[in-house]
Amino acid sequence: MTTATKPAAITPAQRKALLLVAGGNVVAWLRGEAGFATINGNAERKLNDLGLIEDVKVMTRTRTAYGTAMTYDVKVWVLTPAGRNALGVVSSTTATANTRAHQVRAIGRQHVDDAAPMGECAVCETVGEWNALVDLAPNAYGCPGRARY
Ligand SMILES: [Zn+2]
Repeated sequence: MTTATKPAAITPAQRKALLLVAGGNVVAWLRGEAGFATINGNAERKLNDLGLIEDVKVMTRTRTAYGTAMTYDVKVWVLTPAGRNALGVVSSTTATANTRAHQVRAIGRQHVDDAAPMGECAVCETVGEWNALVDLAPNAYGCPGRARY
C-alpha cells in the first residue's frame, strides 16, 4: 500500500495563522514578548500537532519576577515542509495597474543568515523575502508572467 502525501486540511483561521508564520517573526508559545507577532493559541497548538509548524530558538531573554532573574528561551515558529505544502501557492497583492501578481510558494529559510522566510514565484521563479514577494510595494515590478531565463 502506498501513502500519498496530500496537504493537510486546515480551516481558514489556521490558514491565516500559517500565512502569518510564513511572514516570519511569530513567537512560539509565549505571550507579551516585545518585538514579536503572535498567532491564536488554538491555531498554534493545532498547526503544531499537525506538524505544519515547528519552533526554533532565536534568543535568550531574562525576566525578573519577585526579585529573581529568570532566563528563558524565545522561539519563533517556522513552516515545516508539510506546512509549506499546506500553504500551497499564494497570489501576491498588486499595488498598481502595472504590476501583476506573483504566485508565491513558501520555500523556508534558504540560508542561516536569512532574516525572514523566503518565497519563490511559481511562474517567474523570482526568489525573495516572503513578505516582499506576497505584498508588492507600490512601484514593484511584479510578475513578468514567465521565467527570466
Ligand atoms: Zn512572478
